[in-house]
Amino acid sequence: MVDFNRKYDVLVIGGGNAALCAAISARRAGASVLVLEGAPKFYRGGNTRHTRNMRCAHDAATEILTGPYTEEEFWEDLLRVTGGQTDEELARMMIHESKDILNWIVEQGVRWQPSLGGTLSLGRTNSFFLGGGRAMLNALYRTAEQLGVEIVYDAEVRDLNISDGMFLSAQLKHNGEHLTAGASTLIAAAGGFEANIEWLKEYWGEAADNFLIRGTPYNRGSILKMLLGKGVQEIGDPTQCHAVAIDARAPKFDGGIITRHDSVVFGIVVNRNAERFYDEGEDIWPKRYAIWGRLVAAQPGQIAYIIFDSSVVTSFMPTLFPPIAGATVAELAGKLELDPVALDKTVADFNAAVRPGTFDHTILDDCRTEGITPPKTHWARKIDAPPYLAYPVRPGITFTYLGTRVNKQSRMLMKDGKPSANMFAAGEIMAGNVLGKGYAAGMGMTIGSVFGRIAGQEAAKNARN
Ligand SMILES: Cc1cc2nc3c(=O)[nH]c(=O)nc-3n(C[C@H](O)[C@H](O)[C@H](O)COP(=O)(O)OP(=O)(O)OC[C@H]3O[C@@H](n4cnc5c(N)ncnc54)[C@H](O)[C@@H]3O)c2cc1C
Repeated sequence: MVDFNRKYDVLVIGGGNAALCAAISARRAGASVLVLEGAPKFYRGGNTRHTRNMRCAHDAATEILTGPYTEEEFWEDLLRVTGGQTDEELARMMIHESKDILNWIVEQGVRWQPSLGGTLSLGRTNSFFLGGGRAMLNALYRTAEQLGVEIVYDAEVRDLNISDGMFLSAQLKHNGEHLTAGASTLIAAAGGFEANIEWLKEYWGEAADNFLIRGTPYNRGSILKMLLGKGVQEIGDPTQCHAVAIDARAPKFDGGIITRHDSVVFGIVVNRNAERFYDEGEDIWPKRYAIWGRLVAAQPGQIAYIIFDSSVVTSFMPTLFPPIAGATVAELAGKLELDPVALDKTVADFNAAVRPGTFDHTILDDCRTEGITPPKTHWARKIDAPPYLAYPVRPGITFTYLGTRVNKQSRMLMKDGKPSANMFAAGEIMAGNVLGKGYAAGMGMTIGSVFGRIAGQEAAKNARN
């Protein structure tokens, strides 16, 4: 039984990877730790439940990773995907620490499995969790409980008592009761604001009504808003987020990984006017899949259609919903409620522009188009083997990048630039420190684990002083 009259050393808000890594590391450093998870137990663990893998630097192949992925290469990948919009000092520190996380996370009970096949080609860079994110989380919860971390579910934090950059206590609602939890230090690990459509609308307008939220409905950004409202410095562009193209038939929340489409490189993508709007073959898929949410968000009605044919149907991971099929392009257009003449022309123009080449989706091959705009610069092959197939897609928001500014100790910085006396942050809530824009697969978990572990150690140290 949690004693709300007790003052804990460390209060952790959130129940995902960042929160659990923070709680475990604080407890291992000798602190008493209380975790407040807003979701009911069954839904514990926020977006972490949906994950599959984590990107960590390593100098040599391991039992499950096919080759080295040096700190420098990780840094170069991060530079490329963010276009340089990252805090170099923090990012390099995170990359360096990620090497150790590969072992540390195993010491907390998590197990790895060899990379999944398919189109993502992550076997060298990303370690996959045996049993997926849920199993990973269960292992962390088990370890936390065994260590004596106290956890309360259905414990939504509604207010924070912060005075002059110093955390004093949190107000929460639990079993219909309004309670106060006091602690010497705070670790905020409560995710981004991706599930808060009203907040998304402040930047995206009415278009946000057409967004689907890939993960938990509990990440409404309430803790982030409170912290920014109480003097913590913000970081990141509020319109930047990780957003992919997901099946338009997916549920509003929690559709998870099985609604994501990785078939873009095998076909073309058209908007509601049956027109192509972006190079579908720009780069290797793991470096590009995360731009398609934003691209679709910019299209009329925030909807698009991946068009392909029967020859590629087994080339990518199947998803939850079957493709929509038509014996002819025009018939397919009818089923998608697109103009059949326009779609026929788009496909015919594309086919006419395809130049011969040797197809290989694992490299930037020489299959490309000539003479159309936008071009398809790799993996371009004619769409001419009926039945013709399509997936309708909408923007699927994974997580937002606006966050709390932190330093290398995961300590929040206040608006005047001074470090907070006792407040730390980890995970999505501070991802914008590293991700100014863009994304490379597996980094969400790296950010949570690395900064979570540091936040736990630092908060425990802080509580003792
Ligand atoms: C479908 C999907 C697949 C993904 N796959 C991967 C992957 O393979 N690899 C990868 O690196 N990343 C992946 N991501 C991103 C990854 O999930 C996140 O980056 C990571 O889980 C963030 O961890 P976190 O602990 O910061 O947040 P979360 O795991 O989302 O946890 C936030 C927690 O805060 C709680 N909370 C929120 N508000 C309150 C409040 N007011 N009071 C109390 N608690 C509150 C929530 O209930 C939740 O438990 C994926 C995301 C999705 C949606």
